[in-house]
Amino acid sequence: MTDGQVLEDLAALVGADVVLAPDPALLEKHTSDYCVQGKPDVGVMALVFPRNTGQVSKVLRYCNDHGIAVQPQGGLTGLAGGAVPVGPCVIISLERMRSIKEIDTAAGTITVEAGVAMEAVQKAADAAELFFPLDLGGRGSCQIGGNVSTNAGGNRVLRYGMARDLVLGVEAVLADGTVIDALRKVIKNNSGYDLRQLFIGAEGTLGIVTQIVLRLFPKPRSSCTGICAVQDYAGVLELLRRARSGFGALLSAYEVMWPDFYQMGTAGLGRKPPLELGHGVYVLIETLGTDPEGDQARYESVIAEAIEAGVVQDAIIAQSQREATELWAVRDSPGEWSKGIHWPQLGFDVSVPTGEIGPLAEEIGAELRRRWPQLVSVFFGHVADGNLHVSVRMSGHDIPELDIENAVYGIVAQRRGSISAEHGIGSLKIPFLHFSRSEAEIALMRAIKNAMDPKGIMNPGKLFTSGPAPH
Ligand SMILES: Cc1cc2nc3c(=O)[nH]c(=O)nc-3n(C[C@H](O)[C@H](O)[C@H](O)COP(=O)(O)OP(=O)(O)OC[C@H]3O[C@@H](n4cnc5c(N)ncnc54)[C@H](O)[C@@H]3O)c2cc1C
Repeated sequence: MTDGQVLEDLAALVGADVVLAPDPALLEKHTSDYCVQGKPDVGVMALVFPRNTGQVSKVLRYCNDHGIAVQPQGGLTGLAGGAVPVGPCVIISLERMRSIKEIDTAAGTITVEAGVAMEAVQKAADAAELFFPLDLGGRGSCQIGGNVSTNAGGNRVLRYGMARDLVLGVEAVLADGTVIDALRKVIKNNSGYDLRQLFIGAEGTLGIVTQIVLRLFPKPRSSCTGICAVQDYAGVLELLRRARSGFGALLSAYEVMWPDFYQMGTAGLGRKPPLELGHGVYVLIETLGTDPEGDQARYESVIAEAIEAGVVQDAIIAQSQREATELWAVRDSPGEWSKGIHWPQLGFDVSVPTGEIGPLAEEIGAELRRRWPQLVSVFFGHVADGNLHVSVRMSGHDIPELDIENAVYGIVAQRRGSISAEHGIGSLKIPFLHFSRSEAEIALMRAIKNAMDPKGIMNPGKLFTSGPAPH
């Protein structure tokens, strides 16, 4: 079947305005994500921009009937190459499915199409005096369908959980075009397998998510943010203990930055460091509450007590939203690194229990310095969630990335951690899946894939080494 025939058939099925030919400008945009530069000449047959679930279903059924690979795409901010086509395919981009269907204040839910940007969900919730807590640096571009498909985490997992914890219902289309309508608003539903979970974190390998019911929360009336300097990782853990007991349920973020990261996110970007350089470790702490005056006083007293006890060496507490934004900018600075200071980078997104994050960072740092002393690496992470990010600057060094990856993931595996805490496997981490998953687990995942996508058309070349295992 020729590409021209596929284009013609799809246009006849869903309309010529929905199906575009792969011209160079479109290919340039739709063959890369934030991390992986794909190949525009990979063999994209058509780009489909459906306006509704019915059109997604028709296109999938056609592709399944003809054995054509399908590449689902959201906002292309992914960090594992999951949305980047690796062979001939039809791209289905959800960017035209951007409707916010309903906000139910009694149920505390918002029902949206998958192509709605994360930030648009946050704003819609805010306008209804409610709060959608999922948040990360790519908020303006990433889509909620992409967030669900990667089970995104971000800055407030500590309090509200990952995307998985925020999804009540899902509508998704299987490879053969079958629409699975699990778009329910109920919290309690023990009527058999929880099918919505299959699509969350599946990276588009089991179907296309078209609509989602998300949980909303009461809108915080107060937000307190500060950065504390502590001596070492023991200090990080002691401060976390104090923050948990002092702030209780108000604690919403506990972000740790090792000195090299802090230097790069401040002076390295021409920004005045909020606390001076040279401390052992820096911790950004955020609380969200309902009593602006009381919460700020409580925040200041918990930090003051930690200073008095010698746990915190120095601290800065934001006195306005503008100051809080400036403090967060230090933690969110990786979004600015592509301007050149730490680029290209090899990024790691790993997890172990919180108490082991400090030793893990030390062990990885020591191994990298021992084997490749010329490399610069920085450490930071959502430590209360047990999530460490390591970023290694690769420019100017001719070191095989695979060697560095095997070294880091080997250390993580010894601690029974995960090689992908947040970003997914995509195409980048396929060779390392076995560091985190047993053979039996991978076999079960393949069996699920085979059951839901027997021809292996959904996002081939991602998550597994090849398509579904042969029957
Ligand atoms: C500056 C920056 C900061 C970031 N910070 C974080 C962070 O803190 N935590 C975190 O978890 N991630 C983070 N990310 C990664 C990224 O934003 C998330 O992975 C995001 O959830 C991807 O959404 P997207 O719409 O861009 O998806 P894409 O990149 O377009 O796709 C990602 C995967 O989902 C699949 N997919 C997309 N939409 C659908 C759909 N509707 N149905 C089925 N499959 C689909 C794709 O095939 C692909 O496998 C960050 C990215 C950037 C650029």
